[in-house]
Amino acid sequence: NGRRLRRLPVSVFAQFPAKCEQLRQKTARFSLAPEPCCQRISMPHIDKHALREKYRQERDKRLRSDGPAQYLRIDGQLSHYLDDPYTPVTPREPKRDHVTVACIGGGFAGLVTGARLVEAGIRNVRVIDKGGDFGGTWYWNRYPGAQCDTASLVYMPLLEETGYMPSEKYARGPEILEHCQRIGRQYGLYDNALFHTEVKALRWDDAEARWHILTNRGDDFTAQFVSLGAGGLHVPKLPGIAGLETFRGESFHTSRWNYEYTGGDPSGAHMHRLADKRVAIIGTGATAVQCVPRLAGACKQLLVFQRTPSAVDARNNQPIDPAWFSQIATPGWQQRWLDNFTANQTGGVAEVDLVMDGWTDLSRRIRTRISLLPLAERSPMEMLQAWDDADFEKMEQIRARVDAIVADPQTAQKLKAWYRQLCKRPCFHDEYLQAFNLPSTTLVDTDGKGVERITEHSVIAAGKAYEVDCIVYASGFQVGYSIGASTLGSAVAQQLGFDISGRDGLLLSQHWATGMRSKHGMHIHGFPNLFLVQPTQADKLISNVTHNLTEAGKTIAVIVKRVLDRGRSTVEVTKQAEAAWLEILLSGPGRMLGSLECTPGYYNNEGQDLGPAAALNVGYPFGATAFFQYLDRWRSADELEGLELG
Ligand code: NDP
Repeated sequence: NGRRLRRLPVSVFAQFPAKCEQLRQKTARFSLAPEPCCQRISMPHIDKHALREKYRQERDKRLRSDGPAQYLRIDGQLSHYLDDPYTPVTPREPKRDHVTVACIGGGFAGLVTGARLVEAGIRNVRVIDKGGDFGGTWYWNRYPGAQCDTASLVYMPLLEETGYMPSEKYARGPEILEHCQRIGRQYGLYDNALFHTEVKALRWDDAEARWHILTNRGDDFTAQFVSLGAGGLHVPKLPGIAGLETFRGESFHTSRWNYEYTGGDPSGAHMHRLADKRVAIIGTGATAVQCVPRLAGACKQLLVFQRTPSAVDARNNQPIDPAWFSQIATPGWQQRWLDNFTANQTGGVAEVDLVMDGWTDLSRRIRTRISLLPLAERSPMEMLQAWDDADFEKMEQIRARVDAIVADPQTAQKLKAWYRQLCKRPCFHDEYLQAFNLPSTTLVDTDGKGVERITEHSVIAAGKAYEVDCIVYASGFQVGYSIGASTLGSAVAQQLGFDISGRDGLLLSQHWATGMRSKHGMHIHGFPNLFLVQPTQADKLISNVTHNLTEAGKTIAVIVKRVLDRGRSTVEVTKQAEAAWLEILLSGPGRMLGSLECTPGYYNNEGQDLGPAAALNVGYPFGATAFFQYLDRWRSADELEGLELG
């Protein structure tokens, strides 16, 4: 209600751009705030009305009735698109044993959980991954130019524990993959790991008080506890373009890069085999933004097929100076940096900005605008107005950056993004826009319509056929409700590749049929000894997911140790505690990303309403910093409030 909105702290409002209009209407309805007075803050003249209208028109062009179902699920005759091009699969005997903890997913979720368990003295830990090594997203995404968009000092976990100094402010893919392997080695996680192994069934046996795990390699083993950290972006998808399967040239998804065909390697060696090739790349999201410059420099002709442009801000990468690093790397440094980044990025209180990047810039701008408001005028409406202003200003700068870099004015115009910055994944790159100045690179803008058809040798867009030798699909990953799933529960099962059968055969797909239900985004009633490692219904921190994973790892280690030390065998959240947590989540202002006002994409379920389940797709209402502080107190208390040991 109106009064509750007014009581929310500034930091909360600074986080919720997608709610802007809705809250403005609510506060107006409750007559809580005076008329907007943003004119008092000096800002370059921006015709906000005209921009809002342009944003709306551009979104409407892209809305389609099939929403997420427009994409192709990779199976059947397309399943070769999922083959691992990096590591050969080696035969092994199926496992029939028992482990204390099984971690499903060997990316950062499994690695940090495994590491914290080992630190707590729990040795019998098994990590399972469908890739041929640790690394998760960094195992698969070895496309040329892959790099982390979040500063390595906060993104790469366990730097202090491993004593590793990243080489650059934004580390590149191979360095991050190596760090994953370093964690695996240091904590002895390789010994019991199962790679190239996909879990196919996970079933709780109440009498035995353990989970049964079945895999595609014939394994049938048990685990007392299971931690599930499969990641949000691990199932590649293809665009639903007619004729895709008829193409006779080479084609692959960016997460399965064929270096044998292109030449070169993930560390940046030149892709010499493309010198005489015409290459099409379909998609212009965060992945394409990173690999287009490398392709542009290598192939005879590069055609970039664009449906919606990304907003590409400056990168400003730089090497990390060891002398500087040795000064900051005093005991506890990484936790201080993590806390500082989280506070700066998600609207908490921090006196300095240690990371100083595009993410914290976004929040700093909003805070600055809010701080310019006289105290008496800091109503929710005024604060949302400040957010609006900061966003328009930022996006105008990003559009001006296109004009400043791209030589051809028509191409520049087509590369401009017409939406709020957080409607799509913000991108940062210092060579992407420049690539369009090369004579060998052509932007094929489809005015929001996408590629029409693929034939044996061509890609057709806007009625014109472009003959190519190779198609690179930078078409992203299955997220949330993609591709034909009717409920959130079934979408989760589809994305995982298996359903989870809890106590009395309760399936997670049924339990979550009307939306996600958990405590802390980790514990689910009816699913004992199971821990989810992911950010929804927890901190929901947007750009540094590894912080959430590291905190989750700490929590799981504390709980497992407590259960074992007390000689108990199970732990489960009570129904009441799960319901109470949902009530806390629902008391907040709602979802941070995913407004239907935005241009379609995976942030907003391709522009389709998620229904009531969307309300539960949220984080802790008081922000990430408050969540981590709360979780720290919760973990440290003698009783793990809301959980029952059995
Ligand atoms: P996205 O889902 O962001 O992009 C898919 C692209 O394919 C979009 O540009 C989409 O257009 C386009 N597309 C889909 N169908 C068609 C069609 N029929 N014709 C033409 N174009 C089409 O996938 P990405 O792999 O780029 O990124 C996924 C996520 O991975 C990012 O959001 C980010 O979270 C993460 N990532 C992180 C990085 C990091 O630095 N940490 C780097 C790279 C990725 P449209 O926009 O119109 O839908």
